[in-house]
Amino acid sequence: MKQSELDRERLVKQLKNRGYISSQMLEKAMLSIPREKFIPENLKSFAYLDNPLEIGEGQTISAPSMIAIMCEALNLKPKLKVLEVGAGSGYHAALVARMVGDEGQVYSIERIARLADFARKNLEKVGIKNVTVVEGDGSLGLLQHAPFDRFYVTCAAPKVPSHLVEQLVDGGRGLVPVGKYLSELTLVIKKRGKVVQKNLGGCVFVPLIGMDGFGE
Ligand code: SAH
Repeated sequence: MKQSELDRERLVKQLKNRGYISSQMLEKAMLSIPREKFIPENLKSFAYLDNPLEIGEGQTISAPSMIAIMCEALNLKPKLKVLEVGAGSGYHAALVARMVGDEGQVYSIERIARLADFARKNLEKVGIKNVTVVEGDGSLGLLQHAPFDRFYVTCAAPKVPSHLVEQLVDGGRGLVPVGKYLSELTLVIKKRGKVVQKNLGGCVFVPLIGMDGFGE
């Protein structure tokens, strides 16, 4: 077995022991996606530490434990259509793509062209075909592919973007880190036309750019 595979197994075991991974679906997805393929050359040796890492343009790939928390909270299932805001490296989208399976689809919006390209190339390297990376402002959602069963935002927003909630199916759920420095991971559940929000705890993310001048 290659060293990177051993390191990956060790990280997954650690995330399980700490309670971040609870579903078999997520465990399988994390074991199947090589995180080192989503990380710039000079940082590859840190791929299996539970840390965020720089990916250029002032942006970061989130820590594996944070991604695990988000994947579990979304209650992902096969065949779902999911919207991601902030593709970055493409790693988080790759995991979600595995969890929704070949009959599911992930659309990911990224505002920085170079990172949109980076994500597309990384996803291709690991053979993920059910993620479409679109360049643009994710706070507007992606009307041409709406409605979505799930959405999640991988950068901190001043509030839950209303367009994302509007583009959610009834019975759907979304996740947004809300707040500027220390954010609160906010779960949004839409049920019979009503929207309920639940605070899942503190987190730190790079800012979402472009919503009411936030993060600029
Ligand atoms: N999910 C990524 C983490 C990305 S970091 C991963 O797994 O690597 C957050 C990303 O959000 C950055 O790439 C940043 O450019 C992007 N971003 C910030 N504001 C945005 C907006 N309004 N629309 C789309 N992407 C945005």
